[in-house]
Amino acid sequence: ETIINQIAAGEVIERPASVVKELVENAIDAGATHIDIVTAGGGKNLIRVSDNGSGIPFDELTLAVARHCTSKLTDNVHDIRALGFRGEALPSIGSVSRLSMKSRIAEADSGFEINVHGGRLEGPRPTPMNGGTIAEVRDLFFATPARLKFMKTDRAEASAISDVVKRVAIAFPHIRFSIAGSDRTPLDLAATGAGSAGMLERISQVLGKEFPENAIAIDAMRDGVRLSGFAGIPAFNRANSLQQFAYVNGRPVRDKQIWGAIRGAYADVISRDRHPVVVLFLNLDPALVDVNVHPAKADVRFRDPGLVRGLIVGAIREALGQSGI
Ligand code: ADP
Ligand code: MG
Repeated sequence: ETIINQIAAGEVIERPASVVKELVENAIDAGATHIDIVTAGGGKNLIRVSDNGSGIPFDELTLAVARHCTSKLTDNVHDIRALGFRGEALPSIGSVSRLSMKSRIAEADSGFEINVHGGRLEGPRPTPMNGGTIAEVRDLFFATPARLKFMKTDRAEASAISDVVKRVAIAFPHIRFSIAGSDRTPLDLAATGAGSAGMLERISQVLGKEFPENAIAIDAMRDGVRLSGFAGIPAFNRANSLQQFAYVNGRPVRDKQIWGAIRGAYADVISRDRHPVVVLFLNLDPALVDVNVHPAKADVRFRDPGLVRGLIVGAIREALGQSGI
């Protein structure tokens, strides 16, 4: 069982940032409005994600760290509103680290803690805490030393963690996110108001005020697919490709087809070694897109890739054209 979990971990947990992504998604799924992240050693020594979400009831704590146990499956596979649905993250993390889950639901007199060290279970036992969940991951990959060798410097891993948090934070402006630790510059994203004003405020928090000032709003619709967001003007470009943010039905994705479409839209106005800054939200019938392609859930498969590409290229070019670029 531990071996199976370690193999799964090989696919889902590539580096500290993947752990943070999974733990933050769990906090979001639990309805948290405040998520605090602490890291040490670029997340290799410590990752702690605390949330004020629903918590895990005592009798589900052992299940939560067991393989393929999820509280989130609906009978319609297309109707996946939660970010998690495989029940793979916690057992995978627990098989390659020292994982501690502390959790308290509002109705309980105390919290409970369960530990998984290299796949070995300990607990649950009572622990004093406020409502919510504290997931703590120490010594990531201590159980699989070969993987440790692939880790980058503390600085590089810490910055990958910030990127993951920023990426997901844009999709959830009503949630306050903070990251702190001796290995990094702290980040604190205050919760914003609702609607498109809140969304714009969160985008400014993440990308800087200069971005909305140097971007054109996009809002287009084709055959039931809605595209909205902001396309940076060509003069506002970057040397690295991490400045492109895409969301499909509110879920952050990193998808080659979408990157390709963005590149295509800017091909005539930005040189190949520079990258436009773009935030795109695609919304469509969940039956027309499969987000279940990759274990890390970052790729998507559209029923009609040509439609999506055409929509992105057309909408960005039109926006740039209208503003005389
Ligand atoms: P998944 O998210 O795919 O369901 P995970 O392994 O990430 O699988 O988590 C297993 C289960 O543990 C979740 O389905 C959920 O019930 C519970 N859980 C994990 N983290 C939290 C959290 N921060 N708050 C509340 N419940 C959680
Ligand atoms: Mg999960």
